[in-house]
Order: sequence, then C-alpha cells, then structure tokens
Amino acid sequence: MAGASQPKRLLILSSKLGYQSRSFAEAARRLGAEVAFGTDRCRKVDNLWGDGALALRFENPEAAAEAVARLASETPIDAVLALGDQPTLAAAHAAARLGLTGNPVEGAWNCRTKLRQRQVLRAAGLPVPEFFAFRLDELLEEILPRVPFPCVVKPLTLSASQGVVRADNPAAFTAAVGRVRALIQSPPLTSSHRTDLDRLLVESYIPGREVAVEGLMTAGRLRVLAVFDKPDPLEGPFFEETIYVTPSRLPAEVQSAIADCAARSVAALGLTDGPLHAEFRIQEGKPWVLELQPRPIGGLCARALRFGPDRIGLEELLVRHALGFPGAGAEREVEASGVMMIPVPRSGIFDCVDGLDEARATPAVTEIEITARRHDPVLAWPEGSSYLGFIFARAQDPARVEQALRQAHARLRFVFSSELPVEHPAAPRAGCGESPRRRPAAAKGSRARR
Ligand code: ADP
Repeated sequence: MAGASQPKRLLILSSKLGYQSRSFAEAARRLGAEVAFGTDRCRKVDNLWGDGALALRFENPEAAAEAVARLASETPIDAVLALGDQPTLAAAHAAARLGLTGNPVEGAWNCRTKLRQRQVLRAAGLPVPEFFAFRLDELLEEILPRVPFPCVVKPLTLSASQGVVRADNPAAFTAAVGRVRALIQSPPLTSSHRTDLDRLLVESYIPGREVAVEGLMTAGRLRVLAVFDKPDPLEGPFFEETIYVTPSRLPAEVQSAIADCAARSVAALGLTDGPLHAEFRIQEGKPWVLELQPRPIGGLCARALRFGPDRIGLEELLVRHALGFPGAGAEREVEASGVMMIPVPRSGIFDCVDGLDEARATPAVTEIEITARRHDPVLAWPEGSSYLGFIFARAQDPARVEQALRQAHARLRFVFSSELPVEHPAAPRAGCGESPRRRPAAAKGSRARR
C-alpha cells in the first residue's frame, strides 16, 4: 500500500514512446513522481526497448486493463494518462479497474470511432455534419446517390488527418475512396491492429475557419485552456495541419459559443476527467463539431502553452491535474504563442533541411525542431500523418506570431532524395552543412503527429 511518504506513480499509455511521452515523463519526474509506461508498440514482450514499458493491446482494452491491474498489484498506480487516440479506451478501463479518477468507459467508447462520436453528438442535438458510413465491399454506384456534395471521406479510426479527403463530385468521390482504400489496405495500417478500418465515413463538407480547443475536464466540468486559431484555409482536398495560434482572434462571443459547444459535447459524450483536444469549424459565427478526443494535443505542440508565474508547460499542468498535485488551476500566460507543424511538401526520402540557422534567427521564433531524420521515408497527405518538425513563436500579439512562423518557414528548404540510400550513415543530421541543434532521439515511427 502506498504510504504518505511514497512517491505518486503515473502510468503513461501511448502507442509511441518518443518525445511526447518523454516530455510527460520528465514533467512527472520533476514533480517527484514515478513513471511507468504501457504501449502496444510491441504487444507481446514487456520492456523490449529497455524503457520498462508494459506490452499492451489497446484494441483489447479489457485485457490491457487487466495487465495494468497486475502491474498495479506489484507497485501501486495513482493515475493513468493516455497520449494519442489509441489508448484512451484502455486508459478508461484501467482507471475503472483500479478505482482511479478517469473518463467513464462509455465516454471513451463514444470517442473510439468517428462514426460513434457523430451518432452520439447528433442524438444530443449538437451541430455535426450530415454523415453515413459504408463498408468497403459495398458497390460505389449504390452509395453515390446518398453522398452530400461537397463531402469529406475519412477512415473511422485514424488521426492527424490521415486518409481524410474532400470530394466535390462523383468522380472525385470515386477517386478519393480508391485512394483511402489503398491507404488503409497498405501494410503499415493492416499490421497496425487498428479497428474498424473496413468502413469509411462520408460527411458533408463544412466550410469556414477552423479552431482547435485544448481543455481540461474535472468531474465533468470543462475548463478551456486555449482556443487556437488555424489561420490557413484548410479547404482540402487534403487536410494537413499547419499553423496554430493562441489566443484566438475570433470575437469574444464566438469564442464563448465554441466553449459552450465544447462543454455540451463533452457532456453528451460522457467524458469527465483529464485532457481534451477538440476541433471546430466556424460558419457565420456558429461552431460545428469536427472532433473531440480525451487526450492532449499531439506531437510537440504542447510546448506552445505555458501556465502560471513559473511558466509551467501543458505537460506539467496535466500531470499535476492527474496526480492531484496543486497548481493545475494555473492560468495561461498572456503572451501570444503559436506553433507550425511543418508540412510535407512531397513524399520521398528526407535528406536534409537548408536555412535552419536563418529560420531560427527570425524575430519572435523561439524554437525549431526538425523531427524527421535523415533518410526517413516521409509521406505527404493524405497518406502521411507525420510532420517534418515544429516551429514555435511567441510575441505580444497573435498576428506577429503568425507572421514569424510564416517567415521562418519560408527560410527553410527541405531536400528530398527520391531513392532509398544504399548506405545509412551512423549519425543522421538535420541541416545541410549546418549545426543540427537539439535533435530529438526519436525512434523511427515516433515522428511528429498532431
Ligand atoms: P483526424 O482525427 O484524423 O484529424 P478529422 O475528422 O478531425 O480527422 O479531420 C481532419 C481535418 O479534416 C479537420 O481538422 C478538418 O480540417 C477537415 N475535415 C474533416 N471533416 C470535415 C468536414 N466534415 N467538413 C470540413 N472539413 C472537415
């Protein structure tokens, strides 16, 4: 039993153990807590990579919770934190099994597929696009009459806009379905143990500006931590993210409509505790729900948010909340802040990036991390799901932040080689003849996602 003097222990569940899980673990350790990891990266062998990770199957959340309970019987666990969409249901099961605070299993279940989420939100009267799902073995001629053009086609359980394609007419729809089908039937995804990849969701396309909301839920009450504007149009046909800037420049009444819509969606889904990441489109001042997930913003984007007088990061705020430490109520800093997820201009073998030192010298730019490694195969959207890296900026106002991100990005030139290299050099490098500062030691496949 955990005595009063024993450190608290946080279990981080994540498909990828890379820089995101590391930054949460570091935040927990800074607070004097211990950290355990659970992953489905290798689903059979515990601690395969020497990081002590428990091997779990997130697609079988009851069994994952059982394995977590066995771990907790040896060393107690005080909180479970899911990073990314895949472990959220296993995290809910594990929390229920251990009697810890967490989202109810039903709430996490309601977010497990995009279809289920749409059904629950529509039934509760929330503004969602028209939608229907179809099986990949159905005949397209029979589906086409039901498609509301312009539409968006998407897989039920992928993330980071992977496989999300807009189609404005039947020919584009047929091409989109073929392309998404090829993606979800390709080896990386067929071997990924994702569920529900045998169907696609079709939705009416909602025009308008898009925002992301980062939130924190406590006993069913949602606190909005930040509303990020996405100043690029995101009109498709593919939906790779680029710039996030907060605070939002939308009128106060639109922001409060977004917060209200987010709170009603959380209640309808039955989510109650922990981080929330959500996306909305704004049409004539009215928010439409695109998606909510009970997990924090992905990739390195959490670095764009700092809280309280000590400027603690989002990771630390969320760990404090999960473990019941003081300080989770800290307010976001007043300075404007933003991040650019560096788009992938073309599929190929990443070689290097030119202009990094110049880009880093851009006024208001605070940090640039190139997370793609030399000779990594990178895929452009819609097949892709990993960014080349992240640019961060801070300034007095959001317009200045946006400008700095664009300027820095314009100074970067990404070099690709189309062929796989014959030899892999021992040390990958980021810059073409420049100092590759602060290269994260991310394992292959643990690159940037939103
Ligand atoms: P993911 O979970 O993979 O990010 P989303 O369903 O959130 O998938 O879609 C990714 C992006 O695609 C959204 O952020 C948005 O830009 C665009 N998108 C998705 N659905 C719609 C829609 N119905 N109308 C307009 N844009 C959409």
